[in-house]
Amino acid sequence: MAWKITSSPARMLIAGILVVGLSIGCSLAATHASFQTDGGVSYEHAMLIAFCIPAAVAPPSFIYFIWTARRMERLNQQLNLLARQDSLTKLDNRRAFVEQATAQLESGTVQMLVMVDIDHFKHINDSLGHSGGDLALQHAAAIIAAAAPGDALVARIGGEEFGLLLPLQQGGDACSDGEAVVEVIRQRLEALPLITPAGLTRMTASFGIAVSRLGESLDHLFARADRALYDAKNAGRNQLAVAS
Ligand code: GH3
Ligand code: MG
Ligand code: MG
Repeated sequence: MAWKITSSPARMLIAGILVVGLSIGCSLAATHASFQTDGGVSYEHAMLIAFCIPAAVAPPSFIYFIWTARRMERLNQQLNLLARQDSLTKLDNRRAFVEQATAQLESGTVQMLVMVDIDHFKHINDSLGHSGGDLALQHAAAIIAAAAPGDALVARIGGEEFGLLLPLQQGGDACSDGEAVVEVIRQRLEALPLITPAGLTRMTASFGIAVSRLGESLDHLFARADRALYDAKNAGRNQLAVAS
């Protein structure tokens, strides 16, 4: 793909040289032919030639340039997607998550950041093989994405780690509502087995939760959620821990 992108300007340059060369060549040929004709070329013929040359050359050139421009646009879109999407799970990657989460925090609304880490994932890899481990990651991603509310950000932020950012409504018991969503994810991960060619497996995950404070940076929020995740792991895994 990189070759095609870098070669596109070169191909456009070659096409441009061909189009200009063709136009000049046709004009020179027509002018030369008119001087060879006894009695000269009639006004009508000269006008016809003047019309035919650009009429023949311009439309295909125009179509080619439009085609090339659209192709470049599609390649750009693909590149943009690749830069922001995790290729295994098709979720947003860490970069896209950080970008959007930063904007959400800056908007001033209270956010719940949840770090999800699959428990003993190394064992899953060991028992199912790396491709079985990949299927397990896709399985976990699908469960998390399906349980997340429509306005939540969901991303794969590391190897067997996922991030969730849930906007919390002001008032009421918003934190409990957010934790209820996380608890649903925990239960579904535990309950829904994954069937792979290498066998059936179940998995659990631990969750570190932190609710944003006024003016708090994403890095700081991440650090608090990470500490909570560490607490959840130390407390025996397959559970939620909320940062103080
Ligand atoms: P813990 O409960 O403490 O989180 O233990 P763990 O085994 O889940 O954590 P650890 O960090 O020790 O191991 C994570 C493993 O995840 C190691 C790495 O090989 C695996 N992993 C990371 N990315 C991928 C991936 O894309 N595919 C597969 N199959 N495995 C991956
Ligand atoms: Mg981990
Ligand atoms: Mg893990």
